[in-house]
Amino acid sequence: MNSLNDIWASIIEVLSENLTSTSINTWFADCTPIDLKNSTLVLHTSTEYKKGILQNRFSDMIKDALKELFSCDFELLILAGEELEDYNDQKEDDQAWLAGDGYTFENFIVGKSNEYAYAAAQGVVKNPGSKVYNPLFIYGNSGLGKTHLLRAIGSAIHEKNPAAKIEFVKGDEFTNQMVNSIRDGTANEFRQKYRNIDLFLVDDIQFIAGKEGTQEEFFHTFNSIYESGHQIVVTSDRPPIDMLRLDDRLRTRFEGSMMADVKPPDVETRMAIIRNKAGQLGMSLSDEVVAYIAEKITSNVRQIEGVVKRLTAYREITGDLITKETVEKAITDVVRTGVYIPSPEDIIEETARYFSISVEDIKGQRRTKNIATARHISIYLIRTLTNRTLNDIGSIYEDRNHATILASINKMEQLVGKDKETTDTIRDITSNINSRQR
Ligand code: ADP
Ligand code: MG
Repeated sequence: MNSLNDIWASIIEVLSENLTSTSINTWFADCTPIDLKNSTLVLHTSTEYKKGILQNRFSDMIKDALKELFSCDFELLILAGEELEDYNDQKEDDQAWLAGDGYTFENFIVGKSNEYAYAAAQGVVKNPGSKVYNPLFIYGNSGLGKTHLLRAIGSAIHEKNPAAKIEFVKGDEFTNQMVNSIRDGTANEFRQKYRNIDLFLVDDIQFIAGKEGTQEEFFHTFNSIYESGHQIVVTSDRPPIDMLRLDDRLRTRFEGSMMADVKPPDVETRMAIIRNKAGQLGMSLSDEVVAYIAEKITSNVRQIEGVVKRLTAYREITGDLITKETVEKAITDVVRTGVYIPSPEDIIEETARYFSISVEDIKGQRRTKNIATARHISIYLIRTLTNRTLNDIGSIYEDRNHATILASINKMEQLVGKDKETTDTIRDITSNINSRQR
């Protein structure tokens, strides 16, 4: 029993034991199943009137039938007429991560660089919550398939068990949602949302490091899910030991998890990925072209994918012929745009986040130690990452003059490479800035 329609057919069968075929026809003929997830069955019927009847007369029976089939409790959500459209829009937002993009196991090319992470991800799907793979911590540089694997786990478990409650969240979204829920007085709902779930997928956890309130909340969420035997999978751009501002209790938790890293793929794997991506786009590339791309782009699958996509675009223009020049051009385009130059605002925001202070504080006049350090670091980073002039930078910081800006930069230059804490902090913030490029 797999598809939603099969499940619905079984429910109708159970209902038929107690209802006449006339009432089944009258009330259920234009009632269709829409969704079964997060322990909720969603149904659609034509009119408000029928919805009322279904709700009042039949909802308990339907819930009982579900319980009989799945041995657990379900909620029922009945939509009438156009309510379906709103529901679908909403669902698209919530479940964007589940569908689309082809982030499945089938589309994931396995090689030496990622076979361990892949096997662990499959282990989770086979046996969610089992001691061996719970929690699972996947780490590695940007563009190497962490999000892909995380979503593949979500999709596969959803397929296996449509009733499983799955939440997918990014580290920074978790922070924002928490902050908003406190502001709006809905902290309890926020907590509920994350506490009673079967599968918790957290992408880019490095974004919560250093944020005290968020880490505290995350710690409790983590414990409550873990202690009820449910599965947690976390990704990060670095191993726990390198997350300097990570709360010690969380570090201990993560270090006790199953760790799997993803590395840049070797040349055979790169070639297989190129063939696979091209195939998906309906394009077949000569061995020569495949080998050439694989030789030129070595450390980031996202870039490999970018080159193949460009080639499809060129093919539209040039007909089917793909020459070495076209490939060369596609590679230059992707690698050039791959050099990400952040905006000063990005840099200031990331630095503020790292120090848990506001953007206004960084730019403003307060001189407490924390704020002053954050200000110096952000100025130094703007200078080194964007190459703006001292005057330009000064104008971002409430019109400070260029001498002040220069003093900050000099101060930082003396510390970088010598003072470990400063060096590590700058490396971490830079890495956070770079992972915004997505
Ligand atoms: P990360 O989260 O590690 O930064 P992603 O999972 O977003 O990386 O991967 C970047 C892109 O590369 C995605 O489009 C993904 O589908 C693709 N990709 C990465 N690794 C593989 C792989 N082994 N096989 C196929 N596609 C891959
Ligand atoms: Mg990712």
